[in-house]
Amino acid sequence: MKLFDTHTHFDVPEFDHDREKIAYEAKQKGIEGLILIGFLQSRFDDLLRVHQQINSLKNAPQSYLAPGLHPLYIEQHTSQHLKDLELFLQQNECIAIGEIGLDTFLKEHKQPHIFERQVHFFEAQLELAKTHQKPVLLHIRKAHAQALHILKKHEGGGIAHAFSGGVQEAKAFVNLGFKLGVTGQITNPNAKKLHDAVQAVGISHLVIETDCPDMTPLCCSERRNTPANLPYVLQALSHLFNLPEQTLATQLWENTQHALHLRTP
Ligand SMILES: [Zn+2]
Repeated sequence: MKLFDTHTHFDVPEFDHDREKIAYEAKQKGIEGLILIGFLQSRFDDLLRVHQQINSLKNAPQSYLAPGLHPLYIEQHTSQHLKDLELFLQQNECIAIGEIGLDTFLKEHKQPHIFERQVHFFEAQLELAKTHQKPVLLHIRKAHAQALHILKKHEGGGIAHAFSGGVQEAKAFVNLGFKLGVTGQITNPNAKKLHDAVQAVGISHLVIETDCPDMTPLCCSERRNTPANLPYVLQALSHLFNLPEQTLATQLWENTQHALHLRTP
């Protein structure tokens, strides 16, 4: 069984002391690929370093790069960082741009001038994605309508990571060419809205992710999430759809290949 963790922050310092061990553990559990996602320009060097570290290991998942500027850190981004992002895309093999989008979870981010800034960085990175023909990995929280409005003007697709919208929004993202990224939140029996959204779009439009070190599945005792916990997401989906894990895994793998423009056997 082959699994692909489409959203990880496996590059962050929380993993510095045991990253290699976890990478081996993940591979043993069937995680064949993982994406290292960007969020701040100041982390681009570490992102690349960890990517190279993982890919130098023999029995570890294959690492892929997706640099980007995250909307939650909007106060820290500068126009120079957009140029640095473009340079990074030119100099390194990247699979996507991420994570990018809109987030008004924090009250201060609802202020018009801050939100405008998020929109500006979002659109600039969508442009970069178009220029470099890359899919995008979206982070959208409490701003689904606004994000959909912007995405309608930009062609391309990718993954709506840690999808948190309702059924209508789920269908709208799928219609724009996005797969929905499902995290360990699916393991929560009370996550009714998520279960409904996921069932409404069906298994051909889903991919799975850990979003480690966050979004730890309910069943795990350690608070820190790791790529090795990805099978719990598969297990929860298999219950939800009443499908064998193997069948689901095959479909999710194909969805991932499609969303990331990968054509490996
Ligand atoms: Zn993330």
